[in-house]
Amino acid sequence: MRYPYLLFDADNTLFDFDAAERTAHRQVCEIYNLAFSEEGYQLYRRCNAGLWRDFDRGLCTKEYLLVERFRRYLALTGETADPEALNRDHLRALGENSPLLPGALELCQELAASHKLYLLTNAVESVQRARFSRSAIAPCFQDIFISETLGYGKPSRAYFDYVFQAVPGLTRENCLLIGDSLSSDIQGANNAGIPCCWYNPKGLPRPAELRIDFEAKALAEVLQIARE
Ligand SMILES: [Mg+2]
Repeated sequence: MRYPYLLFDADNTLFDFDAAERTAHRQVCEIYNLAFSEEGYQLYRRCNAGLWRDFDRGLCTKEYLLVERFRRYLALTGETADPEALNRDHLRALGENSPLLPGALELCQELAASHKLYLLTNAVESVQRARFSRSAIAPCFQDIFISETLGYGKPSRAYFDYVFQAVPGLTRENCLLIGDSLSSDIQGANNAGIPCCWYNPKGLPRPAELRIDFEAKALAEVLQIARE
């Protein structure tokens, strides 16, 4: 087996983060008497995604991003609330919601019998720790590396250097990183010089500038790749 060590991204690779986020957004709107609609939710998602891209590029801090996404959302909807309070309740609600993507539990259970699994995630420590610990996949993993705990995240080389010194036996040849994000997972694997599998369920076009060793449209395909 070429890749006995599997480095999994969490959100939208194993966890259905989109579903968790929609539920959290709805709950926050209910608490603060804000209108909830699909359009409003998509507006929030755009505010959030743009700021996370800035964060991935080192253009803003996480503290700034977390509150600013709600500040921008409120500015665009014209509604009034305390963005810090919205963020606080959003994070709490996210921590309470950890639905897995279909097939994720079966994949992890199957792979854990033959491989060592690690979770590599760019996330808020308290949220991700809460979601992971109450998730059915938790026993399948040897360890979890959360960007906020480490002080840097994917795709930075420093993040991967930390993982490599923390995991006994892990080398740049014997591991495979599996993730859905081109900007953090695949870019990170390129920066760190490790093999990667792009989980691409939506069939997005392949970018020319990144090395992608494997591509999986379904989680079941990851099982085959990991067994090679
Ligand atoms: Mg992801």
